[in-house]
Amino acid sequence: MSKKLIFSLVCLCVLICSCNSKKKAALTEVNKGTQVDYFADNGYGNAVAIVQHPSGVYHKGITYVAYQGPLEDPYVVSYNHNTKEWKGPFKAGVSELGKDPNRKKKIDNHGKPAILIDEEDYIHIAFGGHGGMPKHGKNRLGNYHGGKNQHAISKKPLDISSWETLDNIPPFGTYNQFIKMDNGDLYLFYRHGAHRSDWVYQKSTDNGVTFAEPVSFLKHKRLQHIEAEDSWYPWVSRGNGDDIIVAFDYHICRDNKNAQDKRGHIPERHHLYYMVFNTKTGQWKNVKNELLDMPLTKEMADEKTLVKEIPHDWTFQGIADVDPDGKPQVCVLVGPDIGAKRSGPKRLQHFRWNGQAWLQSKNANLPRGNGDLEVKSATEVSIYLESETNNEVGEIAKWDSFDGGDTFKKNKIFLQRKNAGFVISALIDNPHPDARIIVGEKEDGTDFRKMYLLGDNGPIKRDGKEASVLNDKNNKLN
Ligand code: ZN
Repeated sequence: MSKKLIFSLVCLCVLICSCNSKKKAALTEVNKGTQVDYFADNGYGNAVAIVQHPSGVYHKGITYVAYQGPLEDPYVVSYNHNTKEWKGPFKAGVSELGKDPNRKKKIDNHGKPAILIDEEDYIHIAFGGHGGMPKHGKNRLGNYHGGKNQHAISKKPLDISSWETLDNIPPFGTYNQFIKMDNGDLYLFYRHGAHRSDWVYQKSTDNGVTFAEPVSFLKHKRLQHIEAEDSWYPWVSRGNGDDIIVAFDYHICRDNKNAQDKRGHIPERHHLYYMVFNTKTGQWKNVKNELLDMPLTKEMADEKTLVKEIPHDWTFQGIADVDPDGKPQVCVLVGPDIGAKRSGPKRLQHFRWNGQAWLQSKNANLPRGNGDLEVKSATEVSIYLESETNNEVGEIAKWDSFDGGDTFKKNKIFLQRKNAGFVISALIDNPHPDARIIVGEKEDGTDFRKMYLLGDNGPIKRDGKEASVLNDKNNKLN
């Protein structure tokens, strides 16, 4: 054979082979469906938020995520970082919220799930509460609104496919916040009723089979000189060692007919506070290590735990973290009262304790938005923020500061969408770098949201057919 012929034959072979492999690749692509950057399309209402938390936990190579799905029921998915395999979403319980089509406010949003994994690898969620109702019995720590707080546990360790709802917590809770300590003790923090209720925690030393009675730590109380009650919004999280840290703001819960403010009851919140619960000694202390009498009253909060007095502007959603020395940094959203029951756009304010005083950061360059913070040292802090750029592009990004919060620089963009209405979770517990936060993106014209799991490499992708939960006719979850 001539060299020319051999060359031609070799070329032909290469061509055929490459065609075949292309064909194979194309077939695989079709069979698998297209990859999309969301993991489910059945997030519902404000599917995740900072307050009910954690919404996700990383454990033994897998990230577990809980969110509010159709009819306000809790859903759980998991992602295996080694095999790249997604499981779920599985419905993990049935909420009493979200079932009444005649309700004036269509979506309640208070019963979003918080998730935790115990020492025996069972997965827990707490969900469905907004204060309970008189039919659930007498609420000795507050008032009623709706829903029923519930606790569900996976039937098998690390298996999200089947769940059992236990009857072992009171029905009156809302804004569940779950914490596991290093010794395996579980703490469930929540408000024990509607606005006019104490905030409590319940401790479990047997992996959530039983919980001790609720213990109040923030006291609701009738005011003497104004037609209103003291009310609170804490955000509770792990500190160092045996510590649990709390950032909180104050709600003046005015009566509907109110002489001081003709608007009656409004979602008016002020000030920023911080305190620490040592779970070993059972003692609560302020940042100066002074003991606090529990449950904390407004008077004692003002005297001992104030980070910043914010009497005129309105506040929303405190968050906190500590550095390796135990020195806290806290943030809260702050914006003007613009009347007619509403407050204006809010900006995140950042404060850090330097051992003697709370220093307010200049927050230069940080855009308006809502998010969670991660403190690495007294000077090094990151904020995971949902914000909107000038040309109406919604963005989830990480903003880093190396000067204790005085200046921030956007160092990583996780997700960008034109005209996106994003909701964002608190940071995932013990997060894998590829899965730090959970985000819901509102779908135009519906109450559903596409759900994203975001980390340092952007969204974790999924087969489009698997992620299309709402269109899956075989799926009985909807
Ligand atoms: Zn109120």
